[in-house]
Amino acid sequence: MAQLRQWARELGFSQIGVSTVGLHEAEAGLQAWLTQGCHGSMHYMQRHGLKRARPAELVPGTLSVITARLDYLPRATAPGWQAIEWQRLGDPRQASVSIYARGRDYHKVLRARLQALADKLAAEVGELGARVFTDSAPVLEVELASRSGTGWRGKHTLALQREGGSMFFLGEIFVDLALPATVPVPAHCGSCSACIEVCPTRAIVAPYRLDARRCISYLTIEHDGAIPLELRAPLGNRIYGCDDCQLVCPWNKYAQRSTLPDFDARAPLDGATLLQLWAWDEAEFLHRTEGSPIRRIGHARWQRNLAVALGNALRAQADEAIKRALRERLDGASALLAEHIEWALRQASDNQTQRAGSESCSVSQSGRLSAPSSVDTVTSPATKPASPPMRAAST
Ligand code: SF4
Ligand code: SF4
Repeated sequence: MAQLRQWARELGFSQIGVSTVGLHEAEAGLQAWLTQGCHGSMHYMQRHGLKRARPAELVPGTLSVITARLDYLPRATAPGWQAIEWQRLGDPRQASVSIYARGRDYHKVLRARLQALADKLAAEVGELGARVFTDSAPVLEVELASRSGTGWRGKHTLALQREGGSMFFLGEIFVDLALPATVPVPAHCGSCSACIEVCPTRAIVAPYRLDARRCISYLTIEHDGAIPLELRAPLGNRIYGCDDCQLVCPWNKYAQRSTLPDFDARAPLDGATLLQLWAWDEAEFLHRTEGSPIRRIGHARWQRNLAVALGNALRAQADEAIKRALRERLDGASALLAEHIEWALRQASDNQTQRAGSESCSVSQSGRLSAPSSVDTVTSPATKPASPPMRAAST
């Protein structure tokens, strides 16, 4: 293991762990989640069913799973970065792209490094059956990470670490070699529930339980259709993914910057206005997002997301330039996009109604466009986690 760890470090991984393949205890929870339809339109999850909890069925002969952690905060991330993100989320004209997606497509970065690690191990042990996975495959990666001590499952359902928060990618290598399993770490969420409370769409329906159908990450990336009406306002200016439940997590005070240039934020994904991004035609979208994970959603979903965010900006503040830009795109728009543009334009009249109405109406109509004050309390770099380690929470 010491040699494996050394190779992993050389490849940019900050941590690796090993688990066995017996994930049977996770099957009931997975089955219930699927039965309740919480996976939304991610039908591949249903198709793979319990195979996700059975690594040896997914890759016959698998005896161990190596989980590797790759931190992704860009190298130039400023101290107090959470406050910067909240500020962006509070400015309706700005575009908010999830931090992990501002650099190079992590699938490529992660896969290449996992394969290099597998190759090194194969060269050492001789014949080795090994298959690498990034999150594109049916793998219960958080479960595997928890079992291998690469983190614990937070109440927001992501893996997190005392020394690294949750701003990292996980990748797995399934091997037909019985490696010594590493020791799980206790959970340290304690009585904290900040992620549940801050979620703009109430997608974390209970501790450790996410209804993907309500999650902005799912809606803006995976979901291929109309954004449900009742979730459009809470989407705010989040046009690709959502980091709120991680921004608020006190453990992300310890999130590590990546050592790799791959995850450095590319202009203009860090700091663009909604109108700047709305101006991209398909050719420009493809050009600007070359090598970025954003390219995977395609121009149609990108525009759909932007239309919703522009509508939210209009509801917050009258803006003739936004109205004009939206109207200009109506001609030739697909039925889906046209419906989202028309919805967006209607938000301008909602804005006028709000001005005539009460302040509380304005707040509820706007969705959660800025962080609640309690967020500052738990994310300030000067403060300690709101819920320091008290007890291990059960997953
Ligand atoms: S990513 Fe956003 S929408 Fe999804 S659970 Fe976290 S806070 Fe909620
Ligand atoms: S520490 Fe708090 S915010 Fe972080 S995952 Fe646990 S419950 Fe959520």
